[in-house]
Amino acid sequence: MRWKIRLSEAGVHLFDRVSGVNVLLDEVDVPSGQLSRAPRYLSIALTNACELRCGYCYAPKYAAALELSRVASWAVELDGAGCLGMGFGGGEPTLYRGFVELCGRVAESTSMAVTFTTHGHRVSPGLTEELRGSVHFVRLSVDGVGATYERLRGRSFAAVTSAASLLRSISPLGINAVVNKDTIGELDDLVAFAADAGASELLLLPEQPTAATSGISNSDAERLGQWIRTTNVPMQLAISRTGLDASVPGVEIIPGEHPSDAYLHVDAGGVLRANSYAQTGTPIADSILDAVQVLREAA
Ligand code: SF4
Repeated sequence: MRWKIRLSEAGVHLFDRVSGVNVLLDEVDVPSGQLSRAPRYLSIALTNACELRCGYCYAPKYAAALELSRVASWAVELDGAGCLGMGFGGGEPTLYRGFVELCGRVAESTSMAVTFTTHGHRVSPGLTEELRGSVHFVRLSVDGVGATYERLRGRSFAAVTSAASLLRSISPLGINAVVNKDTIGELDDLVAFAADAGASELLLLPEQPTAATSGISNSDAERLGQWIRTTNVPMQLAISRTGLDASVPGVEIIPGEHPSDAYLHVDAGGVLRANSYAQTGTPIADSILDAVQVLREAA
C-alpha cells in the first residue's frame, strides 16, 4: 500500500488510491504553515464536446478543450501540494484527443487517484484495455432506467448496461444519476441497476437550473430527502446538495472542512471555479496553486 498524505485543519489524512482507503488522524494538530495548499479533489472538464443532447445538461455549449500538457503539469503541481484525486469530465471526456495518454501520464507521474465520468457510449473493450492500470475509479452517468433512460439520453439502455460491465472490469464503479421529475420515481430501480452492475457508490445529482430547465422542484427535493431517510442503499450513497441543504440530509466527510479545501473545478476554458455550476472563477495562468490562492481569497 502506498499512502498519500494530506495535511488539513482536520488532521493528517492518509489515502491509498488502489484500495480507496482513507484514514483521518484527527488527533494530530497540523500547524497552519504546513497545511496542504491544494484542494482535496479537483475535477477538470477536458472538453465541452459531447454527442448527446440531454435536456438538463449544464456543460457550456461553446467549443473548448484544454491542452494536454497543461493538465499534466497541473497534476504534478497539485500532487505535490496534497491533492488526493483528479477527476476528468466534460462534455464527454472520452471524446478528448489524448484521453488515454493523459490518464496514463497522471497515474504515472503522481500518486493521486485518477477518475473520470462518462456517458459510456464510447466505451469499448479496446478503450478499457488501454485504460487498465491508469484509472482508479470510474463514474457512469445513468439517469433513470429502461425507457426513461432512453427517452432522456436518446441512447440504448442495453448499451449503457454493457458499458457498466466493461468499466467495472478495470476499476471500482460509481453510478451518477440526475434526479428530476422524470427520475425521482425510479430511484429504487436505479439502486437495483447499480447493485447488479457491481457499483460501490451511487451519486445523486439533483437537477440544477439552466437556461433550458428550472431544476428539481421543491416537492421533488422533499421527496428525495424522504427517500434518503427511509431507504437502505447497499452501497455508498453520495449527493450533490447544491441548493438543497435544507431538504436533503447529509454528513460532512471531513469535519469542518471548508468547501474550497474539499473540492474545486476547472472548466474546459482553463478557469478555476468553486464547482461546475459556479458562474465566476479565476483564469489559470502558469500555476494552478496560484489560481487556487486567488479564488480562495476572493471568496
Ligand atoms: S452526456 Fe453529459 S455532457 Fe453530454 S449532453 Fe448529457 S449531460 Fe451533457
